Amino acid sequence: MPINSKIPDYNEDFDFESRITGSEYSAGDDDNEFSLRPKTLSEYVGQKKVKDNLSVFIKAAAARGDSLDHVLLHGPPGLGKTTLSCIIASELGVNLKITSGPAIEKTGDLCALLTTLERNDILFIDEIHRLPRQVEEVLYPAMEDFSLDLMTGKGPAARSIRIPLKPFTLIGATTRAGQLSSPLRDRFGMLFRLELYSPEELALIITRSAGILGIPITADGAYEIALRSRGTPRIANRFLKRVRDFAIVQGNGVIDFHITRTALDALEVDALGLDSVDRRMLSAIIKHFGGGPVGLETLAAVIGEEAVTLEDVYEPYLLQLGFLNRTPRGRCATAGAYRHLGLDVPSGIADQVSFSDNDI
Ligand code: ADP
Repeated sequence: MPINSKIPDYNEDFDFESRITGSEYSAGDDDNEFSLRPKTLSEYVGQKKVKDNLSVFIKAAAARGDSLDHVLLHGPPGLGKTTLSCIIASELGVNLKITSGPAIEKTGDLCALLTTLERNDILFIDEIHRLPRQVEEVLYPAMEDFSLDLMTGKGPAARSIRIPLKPFTLIGATTRAGQLSSPLRDRFGMLFRLELYSPEELALIITRSAGILGIPITADGAYEIALRSRGTPRIANRFLKRVRDFAIVQGNGVIDFHITRTALDALEVDALGLDSVDRRMLSAIIKHFGGGPVGLETLAAVIGEEAVTLEDVYEPYLLQLGFLNRTPRGRCATAGAYRHLGLDVPSGIADQVSFSDNDI
């Protein structure tokens, strides 16, 4: 399957801090990330509901000889959105072009991409919520009628011309589905949300990656890495490589439970995968704001991080652990957060995440 462009390093202009537990793509992932990507739906671990539905739609599109309907994938970074798009293209036997919202600056850039697609090809746009508005408007007729409506000339001489396109599939990926405009969101025929992975699923991914990279690993070593990987395959694969380095230098080359603990403790990743920023975030809510509620912007200012980084990268896992509660009035620490930081739980602090509030 030809992949026409390498995965772009578009996160460069993102304000994410480079850190070992960061789930966003970083240059250090480049070397092996490509070879570690599963190539078929059956190799793709977890996300069962998404896989089951997609496999029906892929088979139906292939049987009809039509292009697959447009797909929107959303979820935190590093959960396998790009990987899934590569698999869809390979299962359909079509070409895949990979680009990203911020990389398409002008309508001409998008037109150049769309007009070179072959019948039923896939265009993957990562961070699609960051597409400039005028580019997004060109996408509407392209997605709906497979045509480009372009204006030429200015004033009274302005004319609109319609250029037909070959049927294609747009796969959009986003970490923030809520920021997508509704005209764009409505043009996707399928919307899938990717969930954080369980430790068992991550242990499978780690064992598979270790096999590909030729790293000897024990079952309890793989599970210990999985427990600390924040539900995210990209982090799991990154930890695998760092623990391997410790195993070579300080151990016997085999990744087992003990060397994993030594390595991840040295990297200041705690037993649940929290790093110093997570801990600072929770302790700021507790110490400066009496456990909350506190607004996201205020919290970000106090700990010196970007609000968008806290929301996209840190919060999903803290919410999943039940350490954070999102209420209409702001973020609150739960009793679990107090306990994890070794603090006494004051009376009146919620023990559980309130799910209705989480959906804000
Ligand atoms: P995203 O596009 O959501 O940021 P990617 O598709 O780039 O994430 O995935 C990051 C890495 O995690 C890939 O290199 C791949 O090896 C691994 N990965 C992601 N999802 C899975 C999965 N379901 N099974 C196995 N490996 C996965």
